[in-house]
Amino acid sequence: MTFEEIKALDEQYVMHSYGRFQVAIDHGKGATVWAVDGKEYIDFSAGIGVCSLGYGDPGWVEAVSTQAAKLGHISNLFYTEPYAKVAQKLCVRTGMSNVMFGNSGAEANEAMIKLARKYSFDRYGKGRGTVITLHNSFHGRTITTLAATGQDKFHNYFFPFTEGFRYADANDLDSVEAVAGHDVCAVMMELVQGEGGVLPLDLEFVQKVAELCAKRDWLLLVDEVQSGMGRTGSLFAFQQYHIQPDVVSFAKGIAGGLPFGGIMANEKCREVFSPGTHGTTFGGNPVAAAAACHVLDRMDDAFLAQVKEKGAYLRQAIEAMELPCLGKTRGLGMMVGIDVVGEQTNSQLAAKLIESGLLILTAGPGLRLLPPLTITQEEMDKGLSIMKAALL
Ligand SMILES: *Cc1c(COP(=O)(O)O)cnc(C)c1O
Repeated sequence: MTFEEIKALDEQYVMHSYGRFQVAIDHGKGATVWAVDGKEYIDFSAGIGVCSLGYGDPGWVEAVSTQAAKLGHISNLFYTEPYAKVAQKLCVRTGMSNVMFGNSGAEANEAMIKLARKYSFDRYGKGRGTVITLHNSFHGRTITTLAATGQDKFHNYFFPFTEGFRYADANDLDSVEAVAGHDVCAVMMELVQGEGGVLPLDLEFVQKVAELCAKRDWLLLVDEVQSGMGRTGSLFAFQQYHIQPDVVSFAKGIAGGLPFGGIMANEKCREVFSPGTHGTTFGGNPVAAAAACHVLDRMDDAFLAQVKEKGAYLRQAIEAMELPCLGKTRGLGMMVGIDVVGEQTNSQLAAKLIESGLLILTAGPGLRLLPPLTITQEEMDKGLSIMKAALL
C-alpha cells in the first residue's frame, strides 16, 4: 500500500486521538527505519523509548520467534519458564524481592498505587489512601494515572477523576512536607521526569524523600516506565540515586518492542497482593517474557557503560553545533532533553527534523532523544548531521 492509501484508511477507521507525522513506517534495522515509500530515517526515538535493542535485532527476533512457535499465550493460572525467569533476573539485578507483570506503563502504575493503598489498609485500616506525586510528572492515561499525573492540562474532560492524589514541587522537600498528612500512604515519582521535559531530580531531594518515607511508613513508589531498562546507563535509574524504593514500575523498553510492564516490590511489600487481589489476562505473556529475558541478558555492565558514553557524546555534539534554535541539553544516559529557544516551537522543530529524515520526540517545551540503546556511532553521526542541516 502507498502512504496515501494507508493514511486514507487510518483517517476513516481510526479514532483521531493522535497527531500523527506524515510518514508510514514499514521496517527497520538497528536504529534506522524505512517508510513505505523507501525513504530512510535515523531513529532518535525508539518508539518512545521502547525498542531498546533497535529494530530487527537477531537475538531478539530469535527469542521472540522461538517462544511464539512454542507457546504464544497461556493464562496466569499456570506457570511458565520465561515468566519465572524474567522475574528472577529483575530481582537479582535490582535487590527487589518479587514482581507482578502487566502490559503497559499506566497499568504498572495502577498496580503500584493499588499496592500502596493495600499496604496501608492492611496496617492502618481505612483513611490513609492518599499518594503524593510531583508537579510536571507523567504517570499514564487511565483515569487514576491521569489523576496521579501532576499537570493540570491532563485533568480535563474525564471527570470525575480518582481521588486521593496531592501534588508537590520537585526538588523541594518543604513542598512535600506541606502536603503531608495522616491520610498519606505513599510518594510516587519519576527520577527523571520524561514527558515533563527530561528533568532529572536532584540526588539530595530524592534521598531526603526516601528518608521521609521510611520515617512515616509511606511507600516510596518509583515510576521507571521510561527511565528503566538501561535507558539512563544503569539497569534502573534508582541505582544511580543510591536508594532502595519500596516499589518500582517498568514498561516501555523492557521487552524491546512488545507490550510488557509491571512492578517490583521490596521485602516489606512482597505479600501485599494476596491471591485474588490483583490480576490481568495478558500480564507475563510468554512471548513478551522471553523477549524481556533476552533484553535483560544483553544489558551487562559493558552495554550499560556504552549507554552513558553515547548519551554524553550526543549531548556534547548537539551543544557543540550551537544551532540557533537549540539551547542546553540535560538528562541521564540516553534519555536526553534539549531546550528549544527562539521563534519555533518544539513541535515545529520535530516536524522539520522528521521531514528531513530524523525521528525525534518532544517533551515539555523542549525536544527529547530516546534512541535505541544499540545505536551505532555511524547512525548517531548521521542523525546529528541531519539535525545540523535541518536546523542551521
Ligand atoms: C510512558 C509513561 C507512562 C505510561 O506508559 P503507557 O505504556 O503509555 O501506559 C507512565 N509513566 C512514565 C514515566 C512514562 O514515561
